[in-house]
Amino acid sequence: MDMTVRAATPLDAAAIRGDFPILAQTDDQERPLAFLDSAASSQKPAAVIEALDDYYRRYNANIHRGVYQLSEMATGRYEQARHLVADFIGATSARECVFVRNTTEAINLVAQTWGRRNIREGDLIVLTVMDHHSNLVPWQLLAEEKDAELAHVRVTPDGRLDLDHLDVLLRREPKLVGFPHISNSLGTLNPAEEITRRAHAAGSVVLIDGAQSVPHLPVDVRALDCDFLAFSGHKMLGPMGAGVLYGKKRLLDAMPPYMGGGSMIRKVELDHSTWADVPAKFEAGTPAVADAIGFGVAVEYLAKLGMDAVREHETKLVGDAMERLSEVPGLTIYGPTDPTQRSGVVSFTLGDIHPHDVAAILDGENVAVRAGHHCTQPLMRALGLVATTRASFYVYNTPDDVDRLVAALHKVNDIFRYQPSGVGHQP
Ligand code: PMP
Repeated sequence: MDMTVRAATPLDAAAIRGDFPILAQTDDQERPLAFLDSAASSQKPAAVIEALDDYYRRYNANIHRGVYQLSEMATGRYEQARHLVADFIGATSARECVFVRNTTEAINLVAQTWGRRNIREGDLIVLTVMDHHSNLVPWQLLAEEKDAELAHVRVTPDGRLDLDHLDVLLRREPKLVGFPHISNSLGTLNPAEEITRRAHAAGSVVLIDGAQSVPHLPVDVRALDCDFLAFSGHKMLGPMGAGVLYGKKRLLDAMPPYMGGGSMIRKVELDHSTWADVPAKFEAGTPAVADAIGFGVAVEYLAKLGMDAVREHETKLVGDAMERLSEVPGLTIYGPTDPTQRSGVVSFTLGDIHPHDVAAILDGENVAVRAGHHCTQPLMRALGLVATTRASFYVYNTPDDVDRLVAALHKVNDIFRYQPSGVGHQP
């Protein structure tokens, strides 16, 4: 993976904001929304919202079966979206991209098809302590069913994967190695190409959780050489309801279907059936046609901005945010200190003030952040934390959002310092 930040045409985030109708709203004090929770789900540009509207107004029809014009148009746009997404991640063929609902479904698909077929009693599956629950629980379910073993790469105190520990685990030749390209809790950018190379040398199949990377930096599956990559459209300006499982074609071809039903079959008898080719084999039933089309439009929007420029914009914002946040009394930032080794996420605690209290006071300032364990309970435990407050940045965030965040955090300190009960945070 390329960890350097190449020079790109800088993003004009202030102008980009104008493309996002939701950001034009102000609160009752006329303050605009400082939306700092894109790691949970991004906002949508007008082009995506209009694509959904256009679909339902002009060519709503089921796909792959109608012989009339509306259905052909819907089918064409759905398949065009697949091509757009495939090009965006550098896939060799659009057939390697299966439309699913989200990252979670993509990973469950791999566990329940590739996993069920290939994991046997006593086999080892290697994941990481940093993984989102959606790359932990599907493998727990499989390991229980198959009596397989799970092991997890440790994290260092500054929130990076311990690659020496990975090497120790790889000596046991795991069947699968799965890890997050970028941590949604800490923002850590993991050396995905290097991990994949080492895992392949040990004979493992590699699954990368790209939920936080594909939206935020250039991702090329051929350069990564991963076997599977899972990501969600809703975190990259697209609608909720459409995500992608990328898989190398020879692996997808060899996998049994996930769900049975219409669209995924070649021929059905009463007691047995044969399967359609990939990706249709994994797309049983009516898919989220409009959402997939909207996903394609989102990808076009991001491609036009340029993913190098997106990466550069976020690295700068996060660098500035980290510098400014470190001046807030009592504030501790988690994860790598070098902004080029992280993505647009800053996770922190403020003294002993509960992260939910911090987030609630920030909300009162029209600054939207996330508080909690961010679906990474094992990671929180490993770092000795219960929860953090997380600010996450994207293409529409500006230095003004950082100012608003910092000012609101000073306000949190003020409120807690002067609590009449005296049980507040001591700066
Ligand atoms: N993995 C990571 C790293 C994530 O950040 C998320 C979403 N927070 C997921 C997986 C799950 O994504 P989804 O809810 O879209 O399935």
